Amino acid sequence: MKSKIAVAIHGGAGTLIKGQMTAEKEIAYRKDLQMALDVAYEILENKGSAVDAVEMAVSSLEDSPLFNAGKGSVFTADGTHEMEASIMEGSERKAGAVSLITGVKNPVKLARLVMEKSPHILLAGSGAMKFARKHNLEFENEEYFYDEFRYQQWQELKDTEKFQLDHSQSKKSKFGTVGAVACDWQGNLAAATSTGGMTNKNWGRIGDTPLIGIGNYANNKTCAVSCTGSGEFFMRGVIAYDVSCLMEFQNKSLEEATKEVIFKRLPELEGDGGLIAVDANGNIALPFNTEGMYRGFRKFNGVNTVAIYS
Ligand code: ASP
Repeated sequence: MKSKIAVAIHGGAGTLIKGQMTAEKEIAYRKDLQMALDVAYEILENKGSAVDAVEMAVSSLEDSPLFNAGKGSVFTADGTHEMEASIMEGSERKAGAVSLITGVKNPVKLARLVMEKSPHILLAGSGAMKFARKHNLEFENEEYFYDEFRYQQWQELKDTEKFQLDHSQSKKSKFGTVGAVACDWQGNLAAATSTGGMTNKNWGRIGDTPLIGIGNYANNKTCAVSCTGSGEFFMRGVIAYDVSCLMEFQNKSLEEATKEVIFKRLPELEGDGGLIAVDANGNIALPFNTEGMYRGFRKFNGVNTVAIYS
């Protein structure tokens, strides 16, 4: 069988507004996106699994302060960082996810542990952290997660009932979640997604990221999908699974299905955002209905590209 290896990543569908993107910042974003792509591609090239590739791509993005996940996570109303992540593989459709966790350096690694070392799919809060400690996962202190830019974003909203998606310059369309999807040499698919959620979020708010079928999904028969956007709308549209359903039950191609979901079905709910998806032939789609989406992909035919705006 000819190898169809491919990987795609995103760093959120809410980029800085074009006018506010400096050449310097753009170089920094592109560098970290390319690094995540390369880490994953190397695994795939060496006949590694799609699950390993997406886990490593997402944990590389979690280690960057530029994206709203792991190290770069936004502040909650209590001035903490509450992170969420999920991972799924498409051959047996095994999945793992975590929500409301603090201090864990790489939430995606915890999600993978839940998938492989627990009988459950979704662990949250103190229980999830206990599970992380039991498996000796790396923890970091508050300082590690402190970022001046994120702190200022929080100050704008602190002590109000408002919450906001990532970057504060524009009040709309700012999402910084990260994700990866991959197809390995055996045609196995996988998806992983990770986020810090929304600035000033309160009341134990959970978004779409840790919800299987909504912010993340993988099925070898159809596709692997990772989403970014206003989680509440993605939940109502069951977005990741919706892409898979259009392929499975209406025989749509990856491109047709992802376009229909992002440009028709999500806007019908007044939702905005984007997603990345791959199928078992290594086809890739990266549609978004926002101004930009930090994104990139690399595949068997030599194409290797990183982009920010449309
Ligand atoms: N989907 C994420 C959430 O609602 C936000 C994002 O994509 O940045 O928590």
